[in-house]
Amino acid sequence: MTTQPPATEDESAAEPDSALVTARRQLERAATHVDVDPGVVERLKHPTRVQQVSVPLEREDGSVEVFTGYRAQHDDVRGPYKGGLRYHPEVSAEECTGLSMWMTWKCAVMDLPFGGGKGGIAVDPKALTEDETERLTRRFAEELRDAVGPTKDVAAPDMGTDAQTMAWFMDAYSMQQGETIPGVVTGKPPVIGGSYGREEAPGRSTAIAAREAVRYYGREVSDTTIAVQGFGSVGANAARLLEEWGATIVAVSDVNGGVYDPDGIDVSAIPSHDEEPEAVTRFATELDEGDDVSRISNDDLLELDVDVLVPAAVGNVITADNADAIAADIVVEGANGPTTFAADTILEERGVHVIPDILANAGGVTVSYFEWLQDINRRQWSLERVTEELEDHMLEAWEDVRTEVDDKGLTWRDAAYVVALSRIAEAKETRGLWP
Ligand code: NAD
Repeated sequence: MTTQPPATEDESAAEPDSALVTARRQLERAATHVDVDPGVVERLKHPTRVQQVSVPLEREDGSVEVFTGYRAQHDDVRGPYKGGLRYHPEVSAEECTGLSMWMTWKCAVMDLPFGGGKGGIAVDPKALTEDETERLTRRFAEELRDAVGPTKDVAAPDMGTDAQTMAWFMDAYSMQQGETIPGVVTGKPPVIGGSYGREEAPGRSTAIAAREAVRYYGREVSDTTIAVQGFGSVGANAARLLEEWGATIVAVSDVNGGVYDPDGIDVSAIPSHDEEPEAVTRFATELDEGDDVSRISNDDLLELDVDVLVPAAVGNVITADNADAIAADIVVEGANGPTTFAADTILEERGVHVIPDILANAGGVTVSYFEWLQDINRRQWSLERVTEELEDHMLEAWEDVRTEVDDKGLTWRDAAYVVALSRIAEAKETRGLWP
């Protein structure tokens, strides 16, 4: 079943910072800085389609439960739709649509030949057994089979899904198509066509963005203090790399709170969320009296007087309520959407430089692109090659955005959107509107 996208909704009645509302506002703002046909901007406010499917699942007790799944496909003018599949109780058509728009900008700012997609199932993955998750994923893959494929729409892991979920999705799709088609998803285990370096890629790109931002503002990474919120795939990998490059990581946290030492924390001594969930909490409870390290709340961590703040946990943590108290000079968005639209304006007025998510954490989708290339060519790259090519891609994207910052005096976010929108608009104008 295909539903129409929420195109005519009353946005003023929606949540102030829903992904869709924010994505549309950011598009409108970027359009004021680019000479672009208003018809193109209007087209980009709406997804191409939002697919809604019912996914029946036989539970372990023999009963049948029906879940709702979605796949939003925003725009494919530059290549197949690309984006994650999330399993979370709050997955909705509107959320998928907003997140798919962000993927369009993210792929365009990195100059990847992809458009934006996002999907998922409204389900609590913790309430499912492993067998149930596998059956649910296989049935979801079958329901989406006509809509996805390596040249149409390429899925990836997101909240509540992982490399194993992608393996089941790829297997179900391949079985039904009658041939092995690894390029239908990225983020797979390397043994079935996944790429080395995919897992650490968003953290690596976040670290690269932080390093380049620090240098741009005339400092060296080795003279920099950094606070990182969230110690998962993005936060832990970014913190470890920045520490390796000489930065002093003064604070890290997980969902329960964090630890702080003005002289620096040995972040390699703390397992990441993936290695041991909530290990920062354990580290904090094991602190002895007299230790230099102290506990800190997530709210206080955000307001620490550091050179660089890296929110790398969840969205909407820097809001109009705390934007005035952010004491860092530079914010590097490791998480998706950590800064609300209102907070962004306050930070801009206060001269705090925000390196946006669509640039900073784009290492994930960039290595997904490498994985897709490896799948099509049936040739695996070494970790060294992935790391080198990611570095090159990040530096090229950084230069493209920096040029807009310098030439037009834009914020980093506006500059990134200008780069993305210009590329998409040019492709749309060149291809034209059919019929
Ligand atoms: P993860 O599940 O690996 O880790 C999340 C970390 O944040 C954990 O340490 C958790 O304890 C902590 N956390 C959870 N809720 C929190 C809260 N309310 N306050 C403070 N800390 C909290 O997640 P991840 O993959 O590192 O993703 C983090 C962010 O980065 C998300 O916004 C995600 O969308 C974004 N992102 C992830 C990827 C990726 O491929 N992993 C790519 C791009 C962007």
